[in-house]
Amino acid sequence: MNLELTAEQRRLRTEVIAFAREELGRDVAADDRESRFPLEDWRRCAAFGVLGWPVPAEYGGRGLDPLTVIVALEALGYGCRDNGLVFAVNNHLWGCVIYLLTHGTDEQKKRYLKPLCDGTLIGAHALTEPEAGSDVLGLRATAERDGDHYRLRGTKCFVSNGPVADVFVTLARTGDRGRAQDGLTAFLVTADLPGVDRTRELTKMGLRTTPMGVVEFDDVAVPAANVLGREGAGYAVFTSTIEWERSLMFAAQVGAMERLLEESVRHANARRQFGRSIGGFQAVAHQIADMKIRLELARLLLYRVGWLKREGRMALTEATIAKIFISESLVSTAMAAVEVHGARGYVADSSLERELRDALGGPIYAGTSAVQRGILAELAGVRGALSGDPGGAARETGGEPG
Ligand SMILES: Cc1cc2nc3c(=O)[nH]c(=O)nc-3n(C[C@H](O)[C@H](O)[C@H](O)COP(=O)(O)OP(=O)(O)OC[C@H]3O[C@@H](n4cnc5c(N)ncnc54)[C@H](O)[C@@H]3O)c2cc1C
Repeated sequence: MNLELTAEQRRLRTEVIAFAREELGRDVAADDRESRFPLEDWRRCAAFGVLGWPVPAEYGGRGLDPLTVIVALEALGYGCRDNGLVFAVNNHLWGCVIYLLTHGTDEQKKRYLKPLCDGTLIGAHALTEPEAGSDVLGLRATAERDGDHYRLRGTKCFVSNGPVADVFVTLARTGDRGRAQDGLTAFLVTADLPGVDRTRELTKMGLRTTPMGVVEFDDVAVPAANVLGREGAGYAVFTSTIEWERSLMFAAQVGAMERLLEESVRHANARRQFGRSIGGFQAVAHQIADMKIRLELARLLLYRVGWLKREGRMALTEATIAKIFISESLVSTAMAAVEVHGARGYVADSSLERELRDALGGPIYAGTSAVQRGILAELAGVRGALSGDPGGAARETGGEPG
């Protein structure tokens, strides 16, 4: 397998880094302090084409293949200091746009993809509920057929982009047909429909420039034309799409790891104690070496998923491994960067304490590390590793694809 970037990918990487450094995240410290969504930066991303990278040109995007999208997102994560903005972009792409791309009808694609690419509409994924986090099949939102509509009722929480989103991809129960996964349906719900309330914002530890909130669906009349896939196939829609979220969403984190490594190397060379640069102490040098090991392994895992997806292949195991390793590696690397910088890494006017706070969400969202390990153990053949019931079937997010 040749993982060398093509000349075109290298050019794209250079362009994206320049764009991200010059045009994004200028006020990130203040935006983070105020938990403010940088709408202007979002529009700049749209104008640069970021929001349409994986979308075919006929629907208003750039039509990049998955491996090239990874290269571009990695560059964005490297060049842009505002991890929250990049996370908002990722939620838009992998929580909403990808559902339309993989399961939307031609009419749905024509209607929604162009405005999602050009920045007119913001997308979000409203899945988690107060009583259904890791246990997606425990969700309680319902959608009852009523002529050419469905009446949608339920509460979704921790929805990234929620307070500013115009389009939600959501899952609701449309029937009770034996197996829990057979009664779910995926919907596209627009925020302008009466009964959609997205006003309850949540304050969080990191990624504060991504707004997060509670979304209430109070007897919303959702057109039947907004079903994604078909009625009852919601779990298959979800599991077949989650691979994208569990891998491509983390490309930007690989870029962030590289940025943290470079900052730490600079500091290790510049900072002097005991008459020499601190990089000369093995304890510090080894921290840097471990950052480099994590970065290279993370990149290999990610590129492998990109390659599999480009070939049109399933990548559930690979995406799950990538999700665990990259998100946990970023936490370790951000932690090491703070340590290498000493008090300069800890104080609030350094970017590093923000980087660490931002990193801590990764092992939770898109399925916690523990749940991912349960999925991997089940995929390896251990019965009940996830459900705790050795006699039962796999029952979580992506534990049982299709
Ligand atoms: C920054 C951030 C952004 C998010 N964005 C979104 C979003 O856009 N849309 C959305 O729908 N949700 C979003 N979420 C919610 C996220 O998907 C859930 O937090 C996640 O699925 C876990 O659910 P929970 O928080 O309810 O934890 P729980 O499921 O209650 O888990 C609590 C603890 O129990 C452990 N646990 C649970 N089940 C098992 C098991 N079977 N085996 C081993 N351990 C287990 C977990 O690992 C965890 O440590 C976001 C969360 C964060 C932190």
